[in-house]
Amino acid sequence: MDSYKDSLKELARPYRKAVLKALLVLTIIGAILFSSMNLLKGSYPLALVEVAMGVYSIVVYRAIRHTRHLERWIIAYLIPFFTAMMFAMATPRATSAVHAWVLLIPIISHLLMGRRLGLAVSVFYMGVAAVIFLYRHLDQPEMMQALPITNIAVISLCILVFSHVYEVTRETSERRLMKMAQTDPLTGLANRARLSDIFEREKNRAQRYSTPVSVLVLDLDHFKSVNDDHGHETGDLALQHVARIFRECLRATDLPARLGGEEFGILLSNTNSQQALEVAEKIRLAVASTPLAINSNAVRLTLSGGVAELGIDGDTLRDLVREADTRLYTAKESGRNQIVPALSVSAAAART
Ligand code: GH3
Ligand code: MG
Ligand code: MG
Repeated sequence: MDSYKDSLKELARPYRKAVLKALLVLTIIGAILFSSMNLLKGSYPLALVEVAMGVYSIVVYRAIRHTRHLERWIIAYLIPFFTAMMFAMATPRATSAVHAWVLLIPIISHLLMGRRLGLAVSVFYMGVAAVIFLYRHLDQPEMMQALPITNIAVISLCILVFSHVYEVTRETSERRLMKMAQTDPLTGLANRARLSDIFEREKNRAQRYSTPVSVLVLDLDHFKSVNDDHGHETGDLALQHVARIFRECLRATDLPARLGGEEFGILLSNTNSQQALEVAEKIRLAVASTPLAINSNAVRLTLSGGVAELGIDGDTLRDLVREADTRLYTAKESGRNQIVPALSVSAAAART
């Protein structure tokens, strides 16, 4: 569960929407200006394309206000937009200055579609534009010289490279910030916010495929005396130590998180409460049998826990954590170093 892809997509949405809106407004203004001028000049096909783009921009502007499919609208807008640009370049009556618009392609593509798709679309349309340019100016010896061609090629390449490098850097730092905001700095485990995000994703998946999801809440026993006896630093090392044990005991699809202090929540996808109890027991035994070795001391640690299952104990993470927490306190009261199963499991055990 290392992927932050969905969250990043969410994060990029508001700013991409703002960029698209700005582009749409500019297109509408541009469409009015250029179509009027082209109508006066008698370039009717081009004027028609410009009017069509203007009208389409208004349609897209209204459509994206509440859309959940911004990415699709971006593609549905940019492809006709760039294609219209190519059409303008290929129109024999258009001036050569139209080619300056090509420089917008890499900037807009990267801002709106990210580094991969942005690069692919830029390279494609800039390539098409280059072919159109060469074809149109083949019979103009003053343009077909090394200096003007190199000038245009280098400036285009510069803008493409800068746009791409900027977007790669932006995405990398956004990913780093996102990871920081969702990670507990001491243990490197997920924090509550990430647990909550991933829970929602797993809940949707569970509803779609009718698979079980369980949650464990685990709390270290008498942790205050670990701090008191060995110092706070050793307490910190102990927290890192159990985090390592969690990772060793869990599958890649499970998510261990630090809920706060010495309390942890573990999200187990595709796991019913019986299987969750087995996982919790495995962790409990691993923690109890692996003391933290420090300065020739062995700090013994144990934990207690409670189990809850989605749908049986509630439908929200808050419900499940509350139920598992109640069972955790039963475990504490019953002597610690034990796991209290979900009700369905304890009832089944009582029947057998
Ligand atoms: P119980 O078995 O009932 O859970 O007892 P306990 O001592 O573990 O529980 P209690 O809630 O009384 O104490 C929790 C302790 O955890 C107190 C607090 O100082 C310690 N603690 C919380 N967060 C950290 C941390 O980040 N580092 C260290 N070293 N200690 C922490
Ligand atoms: Mg405790
Ligand atoms: Mg506690």
